[in-house]
Amino acid sequence: MTMITNHLPTAELQALDAAHHMHPFTAGNALGAKGARVITRAQGVFLTDSEGNEIIDGMAGLWCVNIGYGRQEMAEVAARQVKELSYYNTFFQTTHVPAIALAAKIAELAPGDLNHVFYACSGSEANDTNIRMVRQYWALKGKPEKHILISRRNGYHGSTMGGGSLGGMKPMHEQGGLPIPGIVHIGQPHWYAEGGDMTPEDFGLLRARELEAKIKELGPETVAAFIGEPIQGAGGVIVPPSTYWPEIQRICDEYGILLIADEVITGFGRTGNWFGSQTFGIRPHIVTIAKGLSSGYAPIGGSIVCDEVAEVIGRDEFNHGYTYSGHPLSAALALENLRILSEEKVVDHVRDVAHPHLAAKWAQLADHPMVGEARLVGLMGSIALSPDKTRRAAFAAEEGTVGLITRERCFANNLVMRHVGDRMIIAPPLVITPAEIDLLIERAWVSLDEAAAKVRAEGLWQAA
Ligand SMILES: *Cc1c(COP(=O)(O)O)cnc(C)c1O
Repeated sequence: MTMITNHLPTAELQALDAAHHMHPFTAGNALGAKGARVITRAQGVFLTDSEGNEIIDGMAGLWCVNIGYGRQEMAEVAARQVKELSYYNTFFQTTHVPAIALAAKIAELAPGDLNHVFYACSGSEANDTNIRMVRQYWALKGKPEKHILISRRNGYHGSTMGGGSLGGMKPMHEQGGLPIPGIVHIGQPHWYAEGGDMTPEDFGLLRARELEAKIKELGPETVAAFIGEPIQGAGGVIVPPSTYWPEIQRICDEYGILLIADEVITGFGRTGNWFGSQTFGIRPHIVTIAKGLSSGYAPIGGSIVCDEVAEVIGRDEFNHGYTYSGHPLSAALALENLRILSEEKVVDHVRDVAHPHLAAKWAQLADHPMVGEARLVGLMGSIALSPDKTRRAAFAAEEGTVGLITRERCFANNLVMRHVGDRMIIAPPLVITPAEIDLLIERAWVSLDEAAAKVRAEGLWQAA
């Protein structure tokens, strides 16, 4: 077999990819016929593909590359760590410096008494840990019947059996026997699509109070925890109305329910604070982390756990863990990533420079004839595509048709902007500069214009 390298022609790489590589969240046969785009290198906020195109990455990979691609310091830390201690586990009364140092650093950054870290290799695994941890917590407190977790429709918490069950993604639940028992979903705080004639504030309260109604229906003595993303990411960057989280907090406090904030996206600077919980005034007992924790340089995730829950869990053997929990390479890279975020004041950059610069231009996109709303918190943004913005109308075509057309125009214009149904979303690397933001916006306008022309030409400009 020939060596498979960057130097092979694109078509050959695509054929090998189609023959042997099964892609996540993909109709494999159709992609195989079309050929996947081959990304060969990346630096800063730019990707390069096998045809030599320079693409601005408006999604930071999958919401994770907070410090940008290809940092020299990260390469050096990786090499040093592999030479010093390539692997050891943390199961049997052993530990190592990267796991210690990272946990201490995370505890320092996390708000309140979130002082303890249980490591996983991804956000999905961390949420599986959370399911077991909250149930074990209540069992140790003598209340094993408190076992139900409540989450939201159109929330995303990963793709394992546990994570996929906590998530409220219908297409995921339709495959493979999800959700597992003991997980119950309530409505999402998505005012734009579901708020009708209500004010956002009233609608936020309405959706939060679905939690209270559900707890009463199930009986508070059966409910272990509520889990939610401060801002729904994969669901379409849904920013909840200002009334939502304070009411959720009140309900969790009042009924003695643990609150889990899934900060896999909103953690580590994305919203202009270290954690989205700070942006929204949430006081969680457990915070799920992954993605920006290592800026995607190595797989790592975890649960940040408050003092009381950690103390209770520590009373007995917790029969749970992963071979690579706290993997030294991942932990060392995460620690270096946090050092860069801290020392380069990247969170301040998001809040004081990048967000204000992008916010002004992002808001102007709402003037585009095909854009119904434009939202941005920190560096997490969405626009709703609409054929009639005066009444927040959806397109008559199957949901996602117009979004896909728009995403393909973005791709053609060397901009990665993702679509969720008919919403377009961005979450660029946090180190993006004002000049790079200008380029992103320039390409977004061109792509929206081209997409609108195509939507009209195909007769799709019709409200549902
Ligand atoms: C991506 C994501 C996850 C899952 O993380 P993986 O590392 O893909 O397993 C969980 N929760 C949220 C909010 C996410 O965005």
